[in-house]
Amino acid sequence: MSKILACTQCGYIGKTETAIKGNMGVEIVLWLLFIIPGLIYSVWRSSSRYQVCPKCKNQNMIPLDSPKAQKMVKEELPQEEIDKINKKQEEGKKEEIKIRKRVMIGLGIFLAFALLIVILSKLAY
Ligand SMILES: [Zn+2]
Repeated sequence: MSKILACTQCGYIGKTETAIKGNMGVEIVLWLLFIIPGLIYSVWRSSSRYQVCPKCKNQNMIPLDSPKAQKMVKEELPQEEIDKINKKQEEGKKEEIKIRKRVMIGLGIFLAFALLIVILSKLAY
């Protein structure tokens, strides 16, 4: 998921791009030759995701709530832009809580269902 970060190099503030290390071709070849190295390589690649600046590809993106980014924001952005970004972050957090609630409800239903099956199977014998 892309986050709103600040670029220490070009002063870009906004959403980042997610880049990934390694090479898709190597991944496919490894998968074709041997399953296990392919699997390990895939796991390594997916764990190596990192955030880059969409403008200059700088990897040193810093979170917007860090003191350095706050300083950059104040110097370079008008207040209404800052408000917009803060609002976006706030909405993102709300969305995250919503998703978490949904997962918890799903898990609850699943557990209730599993319990029901266990109870029913005990009753059957
Ligand atoms: Zn940049």
